[in-house]
Amino acid sequence: MRMGRVAPLVLLVCLLALPPGIAGAGEPTPATAWRVGLQVGHLRIEELPEDQARLRGQVGGSGGGYREVEVNEAIARRAAAILTARGVAVDILPAAVPPGYRADAFVAIHCDANANAGLRGYKLARYRESLIPERDDALIAALGDAYDAAIGLPRDPGVSWNMTGYYAYNAKRYTSIIDRQTPSAIFELGFLTHPADRATLIGRQDAIALALADGIMRFLEGTPATALDTTPSPPSPITATAATGYEGGGQAHEETRRRAWRNRLEP
Ligand SMILES: [Zn+2]
Repeated sequence: MRMGRVAPLVLLVCLLALPPGIAGAGEPTPATAWRVGLQVGHLRIEELPEDQARLRGQVGGSGGGYREVEVNEAIARRAAAILTARGVAVDILPAAVPPGYRADAFVAIHCDANANAGLRGYKLARYRESLIPERDDALIAALGDAYDAAIGLPRDPGVSWNMTGYYAYNAKRYTSIIDRQTPSAIFELGFLTHPADRATLIGRQDAIALALADGIMRFLEGTPATALDTTPSPPSPITATAATGYEGGGQAHEETRRRAWRNRLEP
């Protein structure tokens, strides 16, 4: 059949109406449909909006002369470059997240620091009251698998109440949060206060960034397209207000160790 003048336009409209990740039957998935937010933990924490003002003093940890926020940013920017090269639209976000931020994945990048230099390992968590726990858990699983395979740091089972109530997605406590349909996780990459962890966090940033990008790609490619938002995110300037503090007390809570994670976090 010969296409008339209108047909190409109709086809274009149909393609635009498809969810991200779907190009139509039999066609390759266009990675350009994906959008990912990488948050640099503690970056410009002083810009947190009023509802998160109590967190403005949380400038991040340090260890061995290295500041967490600088490590977070170095790794986030490397991961962003890798993802961008793969056709993913990436927003590097500061501590103050754009309220209502929508993306196919949001990962808050942090490093731990503790007075107890014996503590080590990485942690992954998501909002304990997430509306989309399965998708968040899929993101966490993909990130954890990629990190395990490439980096080999031990997994720290001590996910805290602060992590599962991270301000960027804590809908119960704050209003300046990302969209609740955005799959999200917080990634504590390791302890700057542990010598071996620190050596990895400082000396293997390219490998960490690659693992981060690989994990995100694995999640994006494995997520059922029907479960993804169909509304593209608006551009997300780094100038938004935001934050990187944690909320709440420091104690791990039973609820943070729920079913879906139990096997991964408490082997
Ligand atoms: Zn942090």
